Amino acid sequence: MKKHNFNAGPAILPKVALENTAKAVIELNNIGMSILEISHRSKDFQAIIDEAVALFKELLNIPPQYHVLFLGGGASLQFCMVPFNLLNKKAAYLETGVWAKKAIKEAKLFGEVVVVASSADKNFNYVPKSYSIPADADYFHITSNNTIYGTEMRFDPESPVPMVADMSSDIFSRPVDVSKYALIYGGAQKNTGPAGVTFVILRDDILGKVDRKIPTMLDYKTHIEEGSLFNTPPVLPIFTLKETLKWLKGIGGVKEMEKINIAKANILYDYVDRSKMFVGTAEKDSRSLMNICFVMQEKYKDKEDAFMEFSKGKGMVGIKGHRSVGGFRASCYNALPMESMQALVDCMAEFEKANL
Ligand SMILES: *Cc1c(COP(=O)(O)O)cnc(C)c1O
Repeated sequence: MKKHNFNAGPAILPKVALENTAKAVIELNNIGMSILEISHRSKDFQAIIDEAVALFKELLNIPPQYHVLFLGGGASLQFCMVPFNLLNKKAAYLETGVWAKKAIKEAKLFGEVVVVASSADKNFNYVPKSYSIPADADYFHITSNNTIYGTEMRFDPESPVPMVADMSSDIFSRPVDVSKYALIYGGAQKNTGPAGVTFVILRDDILGKVDRKIPTMLDYKTHIEEGSLFNTPPVLPIFTLKETLKWLKGIGGVKEMEKINIAKANILYDYVDRSKMFVGTAEKDSRSLMNICFVMQEKYKDKEDAFMEFSKGKGMVGIKGHRSVGGFRASCYNALPMESMQALVDCMAEFEKANL
């Protein structure tokens, strides 16, 4: 049966990226060896990482003074690496969900943290809009897309201090004005590639301002100086990431992708808004294009398990909501085809018709 992959992460990847990865695992470019068998310092791998960096810069229109790093440790390691490198006295954070809270927890190990606003009062179903950022903060941290709650900023906010963003789950879904940020990071496994590689985009003028000593591996300067090759990087994930970005370039880049993502998400949001059975959980003006969360309306709550089973029978995968929200979540990253979204809506409509 054809599967419709709505997994939240690791998530669906473009088929061509998977095919090219499979080939490279058997043999890279007719060199008689697998990509898994070559040195990360070989010219063959250097060409791969150079292309990955170049695609990042091209697709996101990254200004020349920024560096693009590929590291290990996931977005979660960045929760500590960011304050380790940037927090001297005080940092400001916007609390929009569990990932933001985890980032705040780590930052508190390094200095004072001001939470400028939080949407915890409504189980993070919106992104706070009015807050003031202290002018003496070392940086201001946001989570652009809240994967668990289906809320997203979808714009680049203004900040009087250097801005840092966790863009794990919406980078490459829309054009981003990188010049507004001092640092952007994320795990690749949502919208950029497979698990195992973490991207960091940063300006180096923000570095060297903290009083503490930084361990070599946790110091951004190390990885900038060594072009992400201080130690062995995640070689295969970087290859698949590069293939994923090549695919994105092929369909016209982030501007074109955003149009597709809007059309794709609207298929489901429009249905949920007219449905008598399903209802969206995120406030309308905070809705994410990447993760769409919905539940059954109160009087149909007891039908959630039945719908889960029904949808499985139609090939839907990964639509169970995160335990902290319940209900359902359809993650619709760049690689999710429009047909899969339509198939989900058809499946919901069929279930609704039979069970109203
Ligand atoms: C998935 C996710 C993370 C965690 O990423 P890891 O790579 O598993 O550490 C952090 N932030 C956001 C917004 C995420 O979606």
